[in-house]
Amino acid sequence: MNDEFKSGFAAIIGPPNAGKSTLLNKILGEKLAIVSPKPQTTRNRILGVYHGDKYQIAFLDTPGIHRTKTVLHKSMVTSAMEAVSEVDILLIVMDITHTHDEDFDNILRQYKNINIPVILVINKIDKITPEKLLPVIDHYSKEFTFKAIVPISALTGNGVDGLLSEIEKELEPGPEYYPREMITDQPEDFVIAEIIREKIYYKTKREIPYSAAVTVLDIKENPQKNLLSISARIHVESESQKGIIIGKGGKMIREIGKAARIDLEKVFGIHVFLELQAKVEKNWTRNTKSLRKLGY
Ligand code: GDP
Ligand code: MG
Repeated sequence: MNDEFKSGFAAIIGPPNAGKSTLLNKILGEKLAIVSPKPQTTRNRILGVYHGDKYQIAFLDTPGIHRTKTVLHKSMVTSAMEAVSEVDILLIVMDITHTHDEDFDNILRQYKNINIPVILVINKIDKITPEKLLPVIDHYSKEFTFKAIVPISALTGNGVDGLLSEIEKELEPGPEYYPREMITDQPEDFVIAEIIREKIYYKTKREIPYSAAVTVLDIKENPQKNLLSISARIHVESESQKGIIIGKGGKMIREIGKAARIDLEKVFGIHVFLELQAKVEKNWTRNTKSLRKLGY
């Protein structure tokens, strides 16, 4: 037995809605602790670190791969690809209830010649009967040389331990990059903006597909009240998008705010007061300069 410490970086990729965030939260035990902002390393998309007994896995969440034309989308796809070029292991998550997903097949094609271990994670098995699983495993094991194909339910946690041991098998001996108490090194702003953006994306039924950016204007902590007050701005391209974000009588922006607040409270382990506003900035997704200003 080799008891050297092992470590590595893993990227979780897959189409939107496949369950990537749910999986990451499950692995990290829903205790994504935010540490104070610090200078970023080159590995700047690390969302969380899993601390095993004699190993450590640093996870990178990626914004997903989308077919797209705007600068914003290109920059997101590029950062997803760059994230992958830095990692030691790739997890590709598929939603078993969407087996003929074109996005998924495109992703597979894109990583066909990658020279790191790739694990196929078949998610949402709680939604199907076992007979449905075998043909899918059979099909994809012929399509691609996966190190492992692991069926899981990110929601219930079924199979997630097995997935961690498959990842562990692929890790090389390496340093303990992150101290045990540290689960993520993302600056707070980034995490907050990502959570809000995700809620916009789902709540608006993708009518605002990643063309809304979010900037955090202010974060104030009130330890006496165990409260974090956050003020953030949603940037949209047109008055009509602003109308969608605000909703009838402010209904949509309140819903986005509420859903984001619930997640933020989980992430920070503290009560959160979230103030959201929407602002029109014309053509900003096509304008690289304003993209840079917004941190993409
Ligand atoms: P992401 O876009 O890949 O990050 O996907 P999310 O993690 O946000 O999940 C998308 C939706 O699928 C959410 O409504 C999740 O609750 C749901 N979901 C994720 N994993 C599972 C699963 O294993 N089983 C079921 N039934 N739903 C899941
Ligand atoms: Mg997600």
